[in-house]
Amino acid sequence: MDKIEKIFANNQQWVTEKLAIDADYFENLGKGQNPEFLYIGCSDSRVTAEELMGVQPGEVFVHRNIANMVISIDLNVMSVLNYAVRHLNVNHIIVCGHYACGGVKAAMQSADLGILNPWLRNIRDVYRLHKDELNAITEEEKRYDRLIELNVQEQCVNLIKTAAVQQAHIERGLMVHGWVFDVHTGKLIDLKIDFPHILQDIMEIYKLV
Ligand SMILES: [Zn+2]
Repeated sequence: MDKIEKIFANNQQWVTEKLAIDADYFENLGKGQNPEFLYIGCSDSRVTAEELMGVQPGEVFVHRNIANMVISIDLNVMSVLNYAVRHLNVNHIIVCGHYACGGVKAAMQSADLGILNPWLRNIRDVYRLHKDELNAITEEEKRYDRLIELNVQEQCVNLIKTAAVQQAHIERGLMVHGWVFDVHTGKLIDLKIDFPHILQDIMEIYKLV
């Protein structure tokens, strides 16, 4: 069996298993979705949103890109965000980065990566914002880990800058969470981003609603 055939065989087995537990499983799944969470994570093959959170189809709306970025002129992430917040009415948005992120690593190096340059520049901007803290870390591996964490924090801030998030926070208390997945241990780490404090701090400049 080749690798593609194996995927279809896996799928058939999964369908059988689901139906054995609940005969109406797919009939119910087909009725619609009502997810509580929007997950924005990295495209890295190791950071599987549903699996690492232990959630089932229907429970989380997912967007993944290189290095879990929230860029205001990226029509893709902004469409996902607006749909999730204003139509699906999610109450929690998670930005989940991960240690050993290749995108963040690339942004720490001096190399011309073509089309990736403007994308990775957003991570370089995070570095510049936190240059003093990062440059004070002498061990390169620790500096890399910290940039991954700060990148998550800044993407949370980028979410807070949007009208959709500001409005939903006022109307129904929507929350933004910053997490890191440790690929070395499998653990999810809550960076405990102080959402109300950041909100208060940046509203003077970014308030839209
Ligand atoms: Zn990554």
